[in-house]
Amino acid sequence: MGEALATLRATIRKWSRADRKRILEAADAAQQAHLGQFRASGEPYVVHPILVAAIVASSGGDTATVIGALLHDTVEDTPVTLDDIERQFGPDVRNIVDGCTKVAEVRVSGADALEAARMRKLLVALARDTRVLVVKSADRLHNMRTIAHLPEAKQRRIGQETLALYGPLAGRVGLTHIKAELEDRAFAVADPQAYAAVQAELHTPELRQQLDSAMSTLSNHLRASGINGSLSGRIKMPWSAYRKAQSLGIPVHELHDLIGLRVIVPTVRDCYVALGAVHSLWGPAEGRFKDYIARPKFNRYQSLHSSVLGEAGTLIEVQIRTPVMHAEAEHGRAAHRSYKNADPDEPAWLRRLLDDHDEEDGEYLHAVHRELSAEDEILISTPNGDTHILPAGATVIDFAYAVHTAVGNACTAGEVNGLLTPATAALHTGDRVHVLTGRDGPPPAEWLNYAVTRKARTGIKAARRRGEQAAPNSCVEARDHDPDLTLELPLVGILPPDATRQRGNERALLEVLVADRTGILADLASAITQAGGNIVFSSTTVLPDHSGRDLFDVACAHDQRRDIADALEEVPGVTAVNFLD
Ligand code: MN
Repeated sequence: MGEALATLRATIRKWSRADRKRILEAADAAQQAHLGQFRASGEPYVVHPILVAAIVASSGGDTATVIGALLHDTVEDTPVTLDDIERQFGPDVRNIVDGCTKVAEVRVSGADALEAARMRKLLVALARDTRVLVVKSADRLHNMRTIAHLPEAKQRRIGQETLALYGPLAGRVGLTHIKAELEDRAFAVADPQAYAAVQAELHTPELRQQLDSAMSTLSNHLRASGINGSLSGRIKMPWSAYRKAQSLGIPVHELHDLIGLRVIVPTVRDCYVALGAVHSLWGPAEGRFKDYIARPKFNRYQSLHSSVLGEAGTLIEVQIRTPVMHAEAEHGRAAHRSYKNADPDEPAWLRRLLDDHDEEDGEYLHAVHRELSAEDEILISTPNGDTHILPAGATVIDFAYAVHTAVGNACTAGEVNGLLTPATAALHTGDRVHVLTGRDGPPPAEWLNYAVTRKARTGIKAARRRGEQAAPNSCVEARDHDPDLTLELPLVGILPPDATRQRGNERALLEVLVADRTGILADLASAITQAGGNIVFSSTTVLPDHSGRDLFDVACAHDQRRDIADALEEVPGVTAVNFLD
């Protein structure tokens, strides 16, 4: 315990006397509260919050956040209440501890209502004050550092959760340092074999030699060009190398950008001078230069990035930045300021996830993970110059729904930078998009394969549900008006022709005999759809006694045929179901 406290004291030794005093008071309060509690390692429990506080302090956290870290487990595990905390340490600390307590545990494996509710709570707490995320990330990091004391299965679960949720979240608010260590430790326990294999591919003498040689060449060149600054080099981290290799479908050692160099120079002007020097030494790779100084990333990250062709044709990513940019890149801004609800700086990704809540729970969790796994955001503008921020990979469809749900529903195509473009096309940052509208009927199901934002996906599904209800009912009406006619009506609107391609490895031709009942056709159609079939065509014959014979041509998997017939037999009013093929 003394050792943990010494670590914390050392971290804050340059802080003001008043801040240090408050922090040590909070350490005392934590010690009292957790007295008699122990961790799995056998240590006194309070060692954990003290070391979490040290991580927060060294990540740029302010005094309230450090104190929040010291007390983050008290309300949940001890008799201490939020009112006690507010009385002694003020409302800011209370809010931080409250946020941490509310989001005590979010699991990512489940897709049930409980997990979705927890996820929403987490995001709401973050929207109120992103300092909660600083404490949660530090908490998770200390737990990852001490995870060896837990059983293996639990280690794996916690590792997976960290990779899916806490690592990306830390990255979202720019806690780069914490994100990197979290993901490295989590990968090691989530998939020990893959981790070892990637490590072996990254830690080869050849790669090490390439890095050393690139560093000495560049540092000589920068010095000769009269540039002051510092240079560091690194080999890609296992988790990001693994992810990238997986997404490209190649082994890790075939990745081109395993080596990265970072130049830190005193001023912004020096950054551009250094860039010129780098490009005079190594040619830039086509289309691989990014000026995040002139145009910062969504989390306000600033740097110049250029991928250059180094010795022997290896691709090297060079980052150039000032010391101030470097400090912000490592620690993020989340530690320094809270995002109030009305704050225009509330991160766009967070607002997107909090915007509407009307989706089923499983879909909500997927939306969160889809959002978090997008590495970047893109900025799109309307012809009038209004801008919308969307996740990378967003399409014209997403943009149309971002403008307005009605625009999304009516969207037919887009005019992207003046060129006619399909609605399913992906957009890029800086695109100017005019949405072309004029659709009759609901958007095609196929759009769900292209829409990445929650707003678009919710909009498409809602419009399709309305469309599906409308179409069969109109057929039933036609029958009611003219009972003696034999109707041959395709059920337009139940599915677009494309949908058959996705599922339809087989067709089933079904005959359904029914007694007279208003709305029965709609029930039959929905029974088929729910059992996994897609209606390609249907016809209805109404007999003079008002009983009927419905034929359905259904696209489905072979093993769904029986399910579909069973589902049809369950519909009230059905007297017989036969396969005609
Ligand atoms: Mn904790």
